[in-house]
Formats: sequence, structure tokens, C-alpha cells
Amino acid sequence: MSFCCGASMIGAVGNLRHYKTRILDVPILYCPVCNRIEVHPAIEEEYEILAEYAHADHAPEVDFSDYIGEDTMQEIFDNCTVVDRGNMDELFRQQIDTALDLLSVAKNLEDKEWEEHLKNRLKKLSNRLKMWKAKRKSQL
Ligand SMILES: [Zn+2]
Repeated sequence: MSFCCGASMIGAVGNLRHYKTRILDVPILYCPVCNRIEVHPAIEEEYEILAEYAHADHAPEVDFSDYIGEDTMQEIFDNCTVVDRGNMDELFRQQIDTALDLLSVAKNLEDKEWEEHLKNRLKKLSNRLKMWKAKRKSQL
């Protein structure tokens, strides 16, 4: 499990760019608070190898899941806490719930600094949930 900004990062499959090559279906982790994306640590080396090959080949597009196979893709996400299967509302709500739980702990401990930090995170999370809902509505 990876953390960023204190929120747990979400496992997802995304498309990345390596110079001029688009690499499709790459297992990634992303932070719902700051939007930071990183290649999933379990396949970081494979990703680099494929990216280098594709770049040397001048391939405009390669598919990472073809390269490592479906089974490995599945395995990678078995030890992820939250996997993005398209239900972003729920993911944000889970993160918000966790932050709310921690907030009541912080209040009990009278830890002001932590409390402020958590309030900040909650604000960002609910903004992102709102933005995502608005974006989805405009796509319908
Ligand atoms: Zn972050």
C-alpha cells in the first residue's frame, strides 16, 4: 500500500507517454488529493524496459498488458487497497470517510496541526469529487 499526502494511493490502469510513444494499459498508482501519478512499483522495471524498447523502435503506441499478460495484470492489483474500476464516486467517498474518521481521532487528541491538515485534505477531496461529477455530467 502506498501513501501520498497521507491519502492512500489508488491503483488504476492508465495510458502513459514515454517521449513519442504512448504506452497503453499501464498499472499505475495515483493520489486522489494532488493527482500525482506513478508507475505501479510491481512493474516499474518491466515498464522501463518496454518504454526503452518502444522508444528505440520508434513505435508510436504499445500495449503494456500485451507485454506482461492478463494474469500478471490481475496479480498486481490483488494487493492494492482500492482499485479504480470506474466507480470514482465511491473511491472519493471512501477517502473522505477515512479522513473523517481520522479527523475525529485528531479532535480527541486535540492535535490542532493534524486537524488542520485533515480538514485541508477533506476540502480537496470534496472539490475533486464535485469536479469529477461535473465533468461526468457534461459527458452524458
Ligand atoms: Zn498526493
